[in-house]
Amino acid sequence: MDRMNDFEPAWLDQYVMPNYGRFPVWPVRGEGPYLWDTEGKKYLDFAGGVAVCPLGHSHPEVAEAIAEQAKTLIHVSNWYCIKGQAQLARVIVEEMVKIPGKCFFCNSGAEANEGMIKLARKYGVTKPLADGSPRYEIITFTGSFHGRTFGAMSATAQEKIHGGFGPIVPGFVYVPFNDAEALKKAITDKTVAILFEPVQGESGVNPVTPDFLRTVNSLCQQHDLLMLLDEVQCGFGRTGETCGWRSIVPGDEIKPDAISWAKSIGSGYPLGSFWIQDRALAEHDARKLCDLLGPGTHGTTYGGSPLACAAGLATLNVILRDDLPARSAKLGRQIAGEVASWKHPLITDIRAFGMMIGFELNEEALMQKAAVKDSGKIASIYVAKAMLDAGLLVVPAGPKVVRWLPPMNLTEAHATEALGIFQTTLDQLTTLG
Ligand SMILES: *Cc1c(COP(=O)(O)O)cnc(C)c1O
Repeated sequence: MDRMNDFEPAWLDQYVMPNYGRFPVWPVRGEGPYLWDTEGKKYLDFAGGVAVCPLGHSHPEVAEAIAEQAKTLIHVSNWYCIKGQAQLARVIVEEMVKIPGKCFFCNSGAEANEGMIKLARKYGVTKPLADGSPRYEIITFTGSFHGRTFGAMSATAQEKIHGGFGPIVPGFVYVPFNDAEALKKAITDKTVAILFEPVQGESGVNPVTPDFLRTVNSLCQQHDLLMLLDEVQCGFGRTGETCGWRSIVPGDEIKPDAISWAKSIGSGYPLGSFWIQDRALAEHDARKLCDLLGPGTHGTTYGGSPLACAAGLATLNVILRDDLPARSAKLGRQIAGEVASWKHPLITDIRAFGMMIGFELNEEALMQKAAVKDSGKIASIYVAKAMLDAGLLVVPAGPKVVRWLPPMNLTEAHATEALGIFQTTLDQLTTLG
């Protein structure tokens, strides 16, 4: 037996849990926006690991930074001072968020959100009701996705995510997304925070409206609530701005208290983070929000290792140095304009935010086709599979949206190539009986 080299495809089903509905493709190599599978077939990868690869696959500067760091020091505990955390946090605060604050490093998006949820609970204990009982309710929204851990899953206002795992963590209140009146009604004296994605990813690239964002901002100030932004998918320049919420309301009008990131932050090396604003707890309380999670209150063994920070720092350096958010914004608009010009009968809406583009499908027309109906697949998965067969990887988002999450350093030539496959495949789907 050659433990390191023996391989049978059947082992995946035999030895690995069945919790993913996998497409039958085995990618083995990536370069820029391209992937190759075990058969040598080449794909244009606009799934990007679901918004994880902002610089494409195996970017030389990131690969070099990881390799060098791996040869120097992979891991030390957070009992010690980790240089990369100080460097990466400084760049995030000074050059990305541009609002004074502090970062915590973890390993994933769900963990980053767990940290923000703990911050909210701590805030509610620190600034309780008049009778001393804590405020603990966190408002979240329909269509949200915050992760798979118990807290993040409970925060996610989707029955299909918590179904079968009850009872879930109490204290989350779900409100229809972008419904200001419903939000106002949902606020009680126990409310302590409002958590949302500026651009919802998993439910189909659905943005918060500028009006709603402003309403949340003022309600938070009025009721002393924390505004928590989940930018795990829409952050780090993905939407065409270094911060996702600024692609909805530019500048500094919106005042988030905390922001979570993962996905694009590490180019695929597991890394997550959340930032807390440096502000006083109250007018006459000089303690700082960003210092509320003091020694012993929160932690992780792996989080912010020298290797993870090296991956994060190299990634963010390229994003900022090459001004990739601006490039993404421009190319995203071009792609959306081009697809809109087709007036394709299978596309009913396009929502483009930089390199996060949702194409809403004509679900009704697709589900009427015998081939689609008989496949037993929902429309978005059927279309994603057809695109995959044609050599373009896209990601289903809900039943009727396919997402493009291409690298932020995409060239126009790559975009043109993908548009060609996209259009041809849509045309073929149209002719299906
Ligand atoms: C992917 C995602 C998460 C969860 O991130 P993991 O790294 O899978 O834990 C949380 N929030 C949003 C908005 C996401 O897109």
